[in-house]
Amino acid sequence: MHCPFCRHTDSRVMDSRVTEDGAAIRRRRQCPQCGRRFTTLESASLTVVKRSGASEPFSRSKVLIGVRKACQGRPVTEDDLALLAQRVEESVRSQGSAEVEAHEVGLAVLEPLRELDEVAYLRFASVYQAFDSLEDFETAITLLRAEREATGEEPGAPMAGAPFGAQPGSGDRGATSG
Ligand SMILES: [Zn+2]
Repeated sequence: MHCPFCRHTDSRVMDSRVTEDGAAIRRRRQCPQCGRRFTTLESASLTVVKRSGASEPFSRSKVLIGVRKACQGRPVTEDDLALLAQRVEESVRSQGSAEVEAHEVGLAVLEPLRELDEVAYLRFASVYQAFDSLEDFETAITLLRAEREATGEEPGAPMAGAPFGAQPGSGDRGATSG
């Protein structure tokens, strides 16, 4: 399969293992062109059921349409987005169901996006959770601050639920001072 970073048409499997629940095979791959690593998950197909009742196969690129908009003008790279989409897919699949509702996919975006960029997170959440007042933003920002204090913002601390194959330091998150 092709590399999600540089689109090179080939990749090399470095490691394969069955996931803990036995529902999928996870392969760690490396791109021979750009040298970056990524993970693929081979499992039964995953269907997303939309509010209208229509269903469609889960698609990372569809996930990224909304996220990309929220990230406009933010220091977020395509690599960051590719990793985020991977985390969203893993998170949705880890629920162990062959069918998920579209809003669950949106929910799965929130956590990794918050870790990636707080401003993009607020933008995404404001659309996704239909914020309709300043108070909604205030509440979300208060939660963000609380989280920040709780985690202590330690640089280099391992992220909870970091995806298999995530490369520490692969994304410059930009300055966080302010
Ligand atoms: Zn590549």
